[in-house]
Amino acid sequence: MKILKVAALTIKQLPRQHRIALASTSLLVVAAMMWQPSTPIKQASTFQSSERVDVEIPIGDLDVLSEQNSEPLGAVLDPEDPEFQVPKDELEQQLEEVVDVAHTHKVASGETLGVIFSQYALPLNDMYRLIKVNKSIQKLGVGQMIEWSVTEEGRVKEFTIRRNAKVMDSYTLTEQGYQYKKLEENGVIKPVMLTGRISGSFYQSARSAGLTPSQIQTLVQALQWRFDFGREARKGDRFAVSVEREFIDGKAVTRGDVKALYYLSGHREVFVMRHEDGQFYDEGGKSLNRALRRIPLAKRYRISSSFNPRRKHPVTGRISPHNGTDFATPIGTPVLAAGDGVVVKARKHPLAGNYVVIKHGREYMTRYLHLHRLLVKVGDKVTMGQRIALSGNTGRSTGPHLHYELIKKNRAVNAMKVPLPQAEPISSKQRGRFTQLASDERQKLLAVMPG
Ligand SMILES: [Zn+2]
Repeated sequence: MKILKVAALTIKQLPRQHRIALASTSLLVVAAMMWQPSTPIKQASTFQSSERVDVEIPIGDLDVLSEQNSEPLGAVLDPEDPEFQVPKDELEQQLEEVVDVAHTHKVASGETLGVIFSQYALPLNDMYRLIKVNKSIQKLGVGQMIEWSVTEEGRVKEFTIRRNAKVMDSYTLTEQGYQYKKLEENGVIKPVMLTGRISGSFYQSARSAGLTPSQIQTLVQALQWRFDFGREARKGDRFAVSVEREFIDGKAVTRGDVKALYYLSGHREVFVMRHEDGQFYDEGGKSLNRALRRIPLAKRYRISSSFNPRRKHPVTGRISPHNGTDFATPIGTPVLAAGDGVVVKARKHPLAGNYVVIKHGREYMTRYLHLHRLLVKVGDKVTMGQRIALSGNTGRSTGPHLHYELIKKNRAVNAMKVPLPQAEPISSKQRGRFTQLASDERQKLLAVMPG
């Protein structure tokens, strides 16, 4: 045990790349030790039937224990592998330093806390700890908004449930465990206008104008498809932002939610406003999102292995998470881009085989593994539904399949379950009122715009 501890300590002291290299090497060694010349699988037909039957399997025969048309259980891909990472631009780095990434989910009908935790691969142990602190966390109402952030190790750090317009339950991870607070708002919400001019980076200029890092992040994310503050902001651009601040006895108590932004860059103007649903739309009520499709294939194929962050290795009992969804596609099946985006990786990996990574704006990425042939290269712009590859059986794989991953804000989530971005405009019933309010808001912001 002591030796193991020392080894663990030494490994912790190594630089990150070395640790990953070491981990991958150990994984390969373990995989090699576990691999045995395969005996023909006599009951192959059992695996094609959708019924599950308990069969006794000789322990140690991993080729049989691993799911078919998936990855061998011993060959787990490290989602942190630098091979799969995409370099962050300056704006993303600035934001990362100061603001915790906030993940959000709106409770849908029939969803329990456990269901939500597994969709987003959050640790179940943290859920039990939260329940221990306050049982009422399990009572979720349809439409309530949940927000959380995670530590670098993946633990739930902050967890809030907005119960209604006035009441919010808040849980914070401290040295003593989770602390619960019920927050009630009694103040008056008033709009406040902030204005500025770009000199240097957008981030710095927005900070000087009085916007908080999280408000900047909200704007950067809301406009990701309309205006790229990282690449397109120019010296001399002007902007006005309205935020809704809460006042108690005439004193501002919160920094406020961003309500609208009006941005002027040369001859270009961008106006966006938040609707009751929390999403931003342009003056005509058009969505600023780009949609993602649920399945990156033209037809439905059997799911041979589901997303499972807590998948247990049947022999070692160790957790070997499955960060994606496997479809049993025959070799040569066209693989389609899940959404509009840019190809950021298109290459080969010893475990993943031929693979493609697409970046969709600033919030989402998708990964496609074990491909037979790639039809795109790095830097290509792709549109939703475009053929990007033919599926295959390359890398460490137990049969032809497509391994598909959805990454939201740098964390793998269940692509078959989580709500996906929609690009629907505001409903025609509500549009008239929205465009009227938006037009008024735009005039107000224009009136305070720096000349
Ligand atoms: Zn897989």
